[in-house]
Amino acid sequence: MTVSTGVTILGSTGSVGRATLDVIGQHPDRFHVVGLTAHSNAALLAEQCHSFNASHAAISDPAKAGELESALRKLGCASRAMAGPDALLEVAALGEADAVMAAIVGAAGLAPSLHAAHHGKRLMLANKESMVIAGALFAAAVREKGAVVIPVDSEHNALFQALPDQFGGDLDAAGVEQLILTASGGPFLDTPADTLQGVTPEQACNHPNWDMGRKISVDSATLMNKGLEVIEARWLFHARPDQISVLIHPQSIVHSMVAYRDGSVIAQLGMPDMRTPIAYALAWPDRIDAGVQRLHLHQLDKLEFRQPDTQRFPSLRLAFEALEAGGNSAVILNAANECAVEAFLDHRLAFMDIPALVEKTLETAAWAEVSSLDDVLEFDRMARAIAAREIKTMGISDV
Ligand code: NAD
Ligand code: MG
Repeated sequence: MTVSTGVTILGSTGSVGRATLDVIGQHPDRFHVVGLTAHSNAALLAEQCHSFNASHAAISDPAKAGELESALRKLGCASRAMAGPDALLEVAALGEADAVMAAIVGAAGLAPSLHAAHHGKRLMLANKESMVIAGALFAAAVREKGAVVIPVDSEHNALFQALPDQFGGDLDAAGVEQLILTASGGPFLDTPADTLQGVTPEQACNHPNWDMGRKISVDSATLMNKGLEVIEARWLFHARPDQISVLIHPQSIVHSMVAYRDGSVIAQLGMPDMRTPIAYALAWPDRIDAGVQRLHLHQLDKLEFRQPDTQRFPSLRLAFEALEAGGNSAVILNAANECAVEAFLDHRLAFMDIPALVEKTLETAAWAEVSSLDDVLEFDRMARAIAAREIKTMGISDV
């Protein structure tokens, strides 16, 4: 008989959080929910806690504490209501949870995700931004605290599956030449350069294959999502920049590939549904039903592959440059991008201003080494201040 695994979900009300609860709900004998967290949607958080019998509910916005408390009571739910950033840390470390799904969006997920790793949890990592800005700190937590990180991002989950079971962190020793990250290319794959400046947030969030939160949808449209994933791969698999490449694959069926020295290329394929990598991360090393549609290759028209266009999508180039530059560059890249995406979604910046703002912020901010969580948070704050000033000068009125 399998022992039930206690699972905490950081960011349970989001796209990945809800998909995780969907998979858990299909296997009530195998998993039980310990803690759930959200930023502001108290009503949905309370409903989820009620449905999954969670012992702890944490809302990061302290102003929502009362709302959460009353929503839980109204449902007759006994979950302990908690609020504020420290509550997220407490929930991330609860002893009853063996595994923690990191599904908060953006740098806001860093502190609780890292806290879970420091408590030796099995960290199922969707929150790529935290790995991008603090990869070395996660690596230290894995080394020193016995934490295990299972990537949930579909590409990295694919790479994890395509690497040898006994992969010990040395790609050369494993005979690996290249980690090939596939990218759908997003909704503007074939949009001419002169049209890109005028695209709207609604168009940008209308992803052809994946149904995701708004921030990652915009990142997919600029290709910054792939840029962040390149940096994420560097830390997850101890890769040098020259060992990582990106291939546009509009159908999102091949989720990534590992090219080996002997000429073999091992790929992971499946329908574009996050429940597959989530189920893999939850049950690893076992395989469980994820409730996804099966892949029938003969029903597909074609599988295409092409090189990315970094002229129209400069974000990918910026991410590779930040990776090469090291130090605090990835922190600055990520913070400026988060500010730019938020401003774009608020109609304060045009689409092509997103990479322009990131580039400007990288040029303005001073390069420095990063050696602690405080450093990361400080450079993140500094970059956001620079980006906010730049947005005021770049801001446009006609979108
Ligand atoms: P989302 O916007 O749908 O959900 C985000 C979650 O984070 C919500 O539960 C929200 O309450 C919480 N949150 C937001 N701001 C917060 C803050 N300041 N403090 C605490 N909690 C906060 O996002 P998503 O699409 O589910 O993506 C989550 C993460 O997973 C992102 O890092 C994204 O890049 C990554 N990811 C998502 C997908 C996908 O298919 N959606 C795929 C791969 C990776
Ligand atoms: Mg991805």
